[in-house]
Amino acid sequence: MNNTIQMVDLKSQYLKIKSEVDEALLKAVEDTAYINGPQVKSFTENLKKYNQVSAAVTCANGTDALQIAMMALDFKPGDEVIVPAFTYIATVEVIALLGLIPKFIDVKADTFELDHTLLEGLISERTVGIVPVHLFGQCSNMEAILKIANKHHIAVIEDTAQAMGAKYIFEDHTEAFAGTIGDVGTTSFFPSKNLGCFGDGGALLTQNLELSEKINIIANHGQRKKYHHETIGVNSRLDTVQAAILDVKLKYLDDYSMARQLVAGRYDESLAGIEELITPVKAVYSTHVYNQYTCRVADGRRDKLKAYLQERGIPTMVYYPIPVHLQQAYLTYGYKEGDFPVAEQLCKDVISLPIHTEMKDDVQEFIIQQVISFFNNGK
Ligand SMILES: *Cc1c(COP(=O)(O)O)cnc(C)c1O
Repeated sequence: MNNTIQMVDLKSQYLKIKSEVDEALLKAVEDTAYINGPQVKSFTENLKKYNQVSAAVTCANGTDALQIAMMALDFKPGDEVIVPAFTYIATVEVIALLGLIPKFIDVKADTFELDHTLLEGLISERTVGIVPVHLFGQCSNMEAILKIANKHHIAVIEDTAQAMGAKYIFEDHTEAFAGTIGDVGTTSFFPSKNLGCFGDGGALLTQNLELSEKINIIANHGQRKKYHHETIGVNSRLDTVQAAILDVKLKYLDDYSMARQLVAGRYDESLAGIEELITPVKAVYSTHVYNQYTCRVADGRRDKLKAYLQERGIPTMVYYPIPVHLQQAYLTYGYKEGDFPVAEQLCKDVISLPIHTEMKDDVQEFIIQQVISFFNNGK
């Protein structure tokens, strides 16, 4: 096996729908309505329908989506926002940029989501928001989180950048799409996300029409009417060409989710016997769309496994090597090592194996065999 194995195979995914994408792309280019063209409207409408939600608003990227959500919810400097210590930096970055105070919370070792049993202890007079992150493609325990949030009148922003298309399963067995359960859900169309465009893109979902109106205005320089600025906003728009691509790809999102689930299922089955490797744990309250297939390695051998696979041409990634509270830029908030033991341990243990929509059986079999051989050899 000497052709290169990739974490994500965007090229093969594109080639499968090339004619459809190329046609949509060329039309957008030729129509020259590069900003807020009809494709943006069409995609926004289809995204809303897909997610069975009252409103969708597109924007420039997933980080902006988080920022716009917090602006639309009127979070003010000095307000506190509870956010997991184990997440991608973007979730916390916008909190800091808006002058809000991140209140980190530890996560659960099995599902990687914020540990809702710790929420009550962190809520103060100044707490205005909780940001559950649906990390790696599976929903956090929204019912437990919302119960506490509602009791204290705190807003819930679902960071759904990695979980577009996943479904939350309520205790009564009804389902709702990730990002449509809290006050607002934010997502990203970065190329490697489950619904990815050919550059940057993002969106917000909400069941609250009043809030969606505010989001619309903020994302567009704070104006409802051109050159009439009623609030301070930002310039954050989804390009027409990206919307054109996304409108094609949205039709395949369920197929993409299924393809990822198939790959994950094969890993689950084949790697189940390895005692030192813990494959992803599925929550009862969510489907999993596997933006990443993230395992944990016991006994501090994660880096050895990574090197072993690298030598054999298998890329892996560590999402994330450092918890946010220990990142240099965030030390000013006064946290220290030991504050969030689970998040810190996960940073030492996690490893993500290649998973994408175009994984070939023989390639995956090779990856599986190499993982097994690492542990068999007691490396
Ligand atoms: C990708 C990602 C973001 C940010 O999305 P961008 O479009 O890259 O700005 C935010 N949160 C999480 C959890 C992500 O994975």
